[in-house]
Amino acid sequence: MNRFVELQNIREQFPAIQQQVYNQSLVYLDNAATTLKPKAVIDRIHHYYSIENSNIHRGVHYLSQQATTAFEQARAYVASYLNAAYPHEVIFTKGATESINLVAHSLGELLMETGDKILITAMEHHSNMVPWQQLCNRKEGELLIAGMNEAGETDLVHYRNLLEQKPKIVALTHVSNSLGTINPVREMIALAHQHQIPVLIDGAQSIVHQPIDVQELDCDFFVFSGHKVYGPMGAGVLYGKTHWLEKMPPYQYGGEMVDQVSYAHTSFNQLPFKFEAGTPNVSAVLGLEAALRFMQQTGIEHIKSYERNLLEEAENELKKIPSMRIIGQAKSKAPVISFLIGNIHPFDLGTLLDKMGIAVRTGHHCAQPVMDAFDIPGTIRASLAMYNNADDIQRFIAAVKKAADMLS
Ligand code: PMP
Repeated sequence: MNRFVELQNIREQFPAIQQQVYNQSLVYLDNAATTLKPKAVIDRIHHYYSIENSNIHRGVHYLSQQATTAFEQARAYVASYLNAAYPHEVIFTKGATESINLVAHSLGELLMETGDKILITAMEHHSNMVPWQQLCNRKEGELLIAGMNEAGETDLVHYRNLLEQKPKIVALTHVSNSLGTINPVREMIALAHQHQIPVLIDGAQSIVHQPIDVQELDCDFFVFSGHKVYGPMGAGVLYGKTHWLEKMPPYQYGGEMVDQVSYAHTSFNQLPFKFEAGTPNVSAVLGLEAALRFMQQTGIEHIKSYERNLLEEAENELKKIPSMRIIGQAKSKAPVISFLIGNIHPFDLGTLLDKMGIAVRTGHHCAQPVMDAFDIPGTIRASLAMYNNADDIQRFIAAVKKAADMLS
């Protein structure tokens, strides 16, 4: 297979990658924050607003029916992409954060009693930590944290021990956005299920790099954001097993999620509508479908192995730089590299890289406790996507060396 030709084709699909910043071609390595969008996604959104624009599920007219059909087809496609058992197990939200809040409120209401516990890992993004922490506060409960080792891998012995305390819900990140660690979630889910504990997987950083099969994982919930998987901002997914979603109370109230309403009483709509109050972001959902179709057409296994090669190349080169410290050296890693050089402040290095046309992230990456665990203020993070290439890596490495020389 001629990888170079294939990559050229992929880059052509992403208009934003073609641009120059500060008179240099852009090297975009902030993909864990959000990915660039392929033409297929941009065109899909354009088409919706040019032609189909209409509110869904409530109109008898032609456009409304077209939009409703497209929206429900998107749901069916997402369900098949995830290998969910039924389309109604896919709830559209505005992103991973909203999906987690939905579960924390609704499942929390269903399962948590005063003094109960919730279990997460030490490497969660704030979005998969604060909602559970606040639930524990409301219920006078306790948030249990499974620790990690120096490489940034979850301590599975500690995790097993904490399960013995019978937490009511387990919530785990599949891939850490700050360390790149891939957690062995399949094994962790099976361990939780031995105690009949439901498990939510935060897939915000995993779905863009690897195939996801929710039935194979056997997770009870799986969440992600469209904008981190080449889709638009404003649409995300909550996958949930039917038997949980049916038992869980609604999260938000309003139009669409109701069945019969009187001044005295309301009955609620069936799944998935029970959890989709108000007008959804239709164009973003259609864009998300286009993004997942794009992933599928490109070949998820191919993307995975291509990105692994790039990660290896980048890490090998970075490690040659004096005083380089890579934060997060798990054996199983997604293409996310957090690092520090000597005493150089991440912000200073990131600012110089920016002036050389390299977009990276600096700071705590919405994972302040992770930074505390490593006793650092933050890191510089380079995160890769399918459109990055060997040229990007070379430019990045050269720029890091130059910036480090300037700042040391
Ligand atoms: N979880 C993880 C692991 C993330 O990386 C992010 C985004 N950085 C989120 C959750 C939240 O995603 P969003 O802001 O799109 O809701």
